[in-house]
Amino acid sequence: MNDSAAAERAAAERADADHAAAERADADHADAEHADADHADAEHADAEHADGDRGEVCWLERVCQECGALVDGPLPKACWRCGYTVTPT
Ligand SMILES: [Zn+2]
Repeated sequence: MNDSAAAERAAAERADADHAAAERADADHADAEHADADHADAEHADAEHADGDRGEVCWLERVCQECGALVDGPLPKACWRCGYTVTPT
């Protein structure tokens, strides 16, 4: 009975997460470009951060290891795009 309403709600939540993730990616991308263009490559930046943690919140922890989507909120959390459980590194 409420299938369409549920579907609409799910779609809205998905779009919302998508939007938030896109904004995050945008801000982080600009930041990464400012610091070092190579930071756009998650794997490369992660390696760089491995022994250089200065206590800053690293957004790379929020990047889905499966599909590369940015996951918002406390970890571990299921990826909004592919369902993979993103865990802190
Ligand atoms: Zn994913």
